[in-house]
Order: sequence, then C-alpha cells, then structure tokens
Amino acid sequence: MADGICIERLVKTYGSGDTAVHALRGVEMEVAAGEVVGLIGPSGSGKSTLLKCLGAVIAPTSGRMTIGTDVIFDDGWKVDDLRALRRDRIGFIFQAPYLIPFLDVTDNVALLPMLAGKSNAESRKEARALLDALDVGHRAAAMPSQLSGGEQQRVAIARALVNRPPVILADEPTAPLDGERALAVVALLNDMARQFDTAIIVVTHDEKIIPTFRRLYHIRDGVTVEERQPVD
Ligand code: ADP
Repeated sequence: MADGICIERLVKTYGSGDTAVHALRGVEMEVAAGEVVGLIGPSGSGKSTLLKCLGAVIAPTSGRMTIGTDVIFDDGWKVDDLRALRRDRIGFIFQAPYLIPFLDVTDNVALLPMLAGKSNAESRKEARALLDALDVGHRAAAMPSQLSGGEQQRVAIARALVNRPPVILADEPTAPLDGERALAVVALLNDMARQFDTAIIVVTHDEKIIPTFRRLYHIRDGVTVEERQPVD
C-alpha cells in the first residue's frame, strides 16, 4: 500500500493487574489512500481509545501502526516528534467544529499551515482554495458565529485537510446535522478523500450515514470485524 493507514494487532490496556481494562485486544484495520471507512460500535467498545491511539494522543500498549510506508508505532513510537506527526500527518474533525471565534474563516483554516512554518500569504492562499473547493469560499471573510452549522462543519473539514495529511480521523462529524446536511458532509468527505488521496476514518452512530460506507469496521469488546456493504 503506497499510502493510507495500516493497523496490526493493536492492543491498549489501561492500568495493570486486577484493575486492568483491556480496551483494545488486537485491532486489525487497513484504510487505503482515497478511501472513507466507518467505525461503529456500542458505547465502551473501544472507539475513542482507537482514535486516540491513531491520533497519537495516547500510546498503544503493543502492536503496529503504519502511515504510507512509515512505521509510526511498533511496540513503541517510531517517530521522535509526536506533535509534528499530529500536525502534519493526521487531520481531526470533531462533532463540534471548534472554530476559533475571534479569527475569520480564512484564518481559522490558515492557522495550521502558519504553525507548520508557511508564510501568512501562502497559508491564506491555500485556505482560500480549499474553502472554494468546499463551497464556502464566499464566507471566507466571515466570522464563525455568522455561519450556519453546516457551513461551520465545512470550514472544519477545510482545516483538517489544509496540511494535506494522509489520514483524517472524524469523530461523529455529522451528529449535530439534519439528514440532508449529514449526507452532504459524507459526500464531501468522499470527494476530498479521492481528491487529496486521504484515508478517512469516520466514527459514527448516525443511522443516516452508516449505509453510505462501502466498508465498515464494527468494534466490540476491543476487537474489529470488517463488513462490506453494497453502495450504489
Ligand atoms: P467508546 O469510545 O467505544 O465508548 P472507549 O474507548 O472510551 O469506548 O472505552 C473502552 C474501554 O476502556 C471502556 O471499558 C472504558 O471504560 C475504558 N477506558 C477508556 N478510557 C480509560 C482510561 N483513561 N482509563 C481506564 N479505562 C478507560
């Protein structure tokens, strides 16, 4: 696999001894560049733990994670700078857009490339291009509070994409949206995945969007099972 993400035998145990919680018990998952997969499972099944491991927010106990051809974890981190890994190679989309209220839409998106060392002008140019691609270019000078919920989520998607990460982790990205807007966000994620060769993992409970994934991973008691769905 040239790009995308590969997870092998991933284990996460919180604590030890009698009080140990075995949150992940050998997760296997592979998401190709350009692909969007769903991750579903009941409360307490390990979804957040898996996202936190993938997002390098917590360390797995054992197993292996690869982004493209780079091994990032193999029974221990294989990258020195976890902050740079999170900033440059993993995009995050949350249930709430979490836009910065005192920055306009363009600067909300331009902030990450600026933090990665790009010039303000170049960062703003890239932000504008993505906002156009996501059909919110006309709101580029607005403040977040002036946008609808759907527009804010598009800006959040632009922000997740702006550093061109090979992986995007989306945690309940459609939860606050009605059916039509939720499906529009999933369609956008699919477009963006293909356009930018990004592997996207969407954690969701949203019955409206679950039928749209060609591949799903069910997680239960810390183990994943893959399911393929016919999607027209
Ligand atoms: P989900 O996101 O699917 O609801 P989680 O990943 O949050 O599941 O939780 C999986 C299991 O790990 C649960 O049994 C939960 O109680 C436990 N767990 C999660 N975080 C911690 C933690 N920081 N310390 C101890 N146990 C935890």
